[in-house]
Amino acid sequence: MKEFQWPERVTVREVGLRDGLQSIARTLPTSQKLQWIQGAYDAGVREIEVGSFVPPKLMPQLADTAELVTFAKTLPGMCVSVLVPNLKGAERAMAAGADWMLLPLSVSHAHSLANLRKAPDDVVAEIGAIVEARRMAGSHCKIEVGMSTALGCTLQGRVEVPEVLRLIQAVLALGVDRVGLADTVGYADPRQVGDLFTQAREVAGDRLACGHFHDTRGLGLANVMAALQAGENRFDACLAGIGGCPHAPGASGNVATEDLVYLMGSMGIATGIDLQALLTLRQQLTGWLAGECLHGSIAQAGLPKTYTNPQNARLSA
Ligand code: ZN
Repeated sequence: MKEFQWPERVTVREVGLRDGLQSIARTLPTSQKLQWIQGAYDAGVREIEVGSFVPPKLMPQLADTAELVTFAKTLPGMCVSVLVPNLKGAERAMAAGADWMLLPLSVSHAHSLANLRKAPDDVVAEIGAIVEARRMAGSHCKIEVGMSTALGCTLQGRVEVPEVLRLIQAVLALGVDRVGLADTVGYADPRQVGDLFTQAREVAGDRLACGHFHDTRGLGLANVMAALQAGENRFDACLAGIGGCPHAPGASGNVATEDLVYLMGSMGIATGIDLQALLTLRQQLTGWLAGECLHGSIAQAGLPKTYTNPQNARLSA
């Protein structure tokens, strides 16, 4: 077996404006979202998911996504993703000029029907239509498929690994640029994560390029570690750990960006993100989301005296 080497750098994508805000009933004003994007950029974040092209009637919180893409694209070097549920959304993402569209594909049959009213293989067919639409449009927008409920599902319980691998193969064969694995409901444990990421990498190689973990049951960062040690070096996270389940009040949300950056930084792994600046931004967000349930340990405890941002943290600045 090859000896494990810690990576020098990992990429953290901020997804709070999409995964976080979609689970909060209130609508954050566009002006505050713009400040969030600018603040994240100033702290060194270079990948951000700014919203979702779902019908505004379904998710009024994210109705300003096109405007956010336009603004984020003015920041040099910022890589802008949007979530897209169908072909119509994909057309809007391409028209808006997003760098990446993130297409969710629920591995769980039950979750897929409940969420998108389609079986997983019908979603694969829609993804094929989106790849074709991109070709016809001559668009450079890249496509990432997020394999949601890849590690368990609140509706169906267990999700089988061969089914995850089969669907990864199916979408890669269609020509999508990369896939990610998501523990959408916080069911995963680190051993399971290590096994799945290892097996998925045998199928997808470097096109497996994202780990998306929720801290619903306190295992978020442990699962990040398991994926990291299985060779993953891109992770999604939400500032202040927002992104909880609307059906479980008070439950933890996504892995908190600041805790993830701290984890990496404390191990000497660069993220390009200045943790102090990120904590200042979190402070602002706390004001904007007053009354909402926020999470994260570092913001409560503060940084230890021994912490320094890794030397090459500002490489991309
Ligand atoms: Zn999520």
